[in-house]
Amino acid sequence: MSVMYFSKNAIKNLTHKPATLMYPNKKRAFFERTRGHVEIRIADCIFCGICQKRCPSNAIRVERAGKLWQIERMNCIQCGACVDNCPKKCLGMKNDYTAPDMAKKTDAYSGA
Ligand code: SF4
Ligand code: SF4
Repeated sequence: MSVMYFSKNAIKNLTHKPATLMYPNKKRAFFERTRGHVEIRIADCIFCGICQKRCPSNAIRVERAGKLWQIERMNCIQCGACVDNCPKKCLGMKNDYTAPDMAKKTDAYSGA
C-alpha cells in the first residue's frame, strides 16, 4: 500500500459525507425486499399453529382456544418461514424494522 493510496482516501473522507447515519433519528431507505418485520392480517388467521411450529426461534405463540396470535419481536430472526408456510397467506414481511426498544416486546393480536 502506498502513501498515495492512504492520502487519497483521507482527502476523500474529509470532503464526503459520512457513510453512517445517526440512527434512529435518521433512517436509511429500505430496499423493497428487506425482511423487516412480520405482520399478520388477523381476520384471515385460522389459528392452526403452523407458523408457531415452523418458527426456528420460538418467536410466535398461537392460542387456538383464545384466538390469540402473539409474536416476540426481539426473538424473530426474520427468516420468513412463518410467512412461507401459512396456509391462509395472512402473514407477510414488511420492509421496515421493529423500532428499537429498551425491553423485549411482544405484540398480541386477537381474532375474538
Ligand atoms: S399459520 Fe397462518 S393461519 Fe395458521 S396460525 Fe399462523 S398466521 Fe394463523
Ligand atoms: S420470520 Fe422466522 S423467526 Fe420470525 S416469526 Fe417468522 S418464522 Fe419465526
